[in-house]
Amino acid sequence: MNNTFVQKPKIVHTKSISCDGGGSSGHPNVYLYINVENEITCPYCSQKFIFNAPKSSTPTH
Ligand SMILES: [Zn+2]
Repeated sequence: MNNTFVQKPKIVHTKSISCDGGGSSGHPNVYLYINVENEITCPYCSQKFIFNAPKSSTPTH
């Protein structure tokens, strides 16, 4: 269960997020903004965030 330095990408539904490293072994809370490639990597803990638009309203009919 040692996932040292192996971080799963975290799916987020907003382009402005914050990261604190995940609690006790974390870092000061920082705000990150998803870039045009729909992803961002936290410079502190290398946690990767992937933007996934909410698929709630798709009136395609
Ligand atoms: Zn972080």
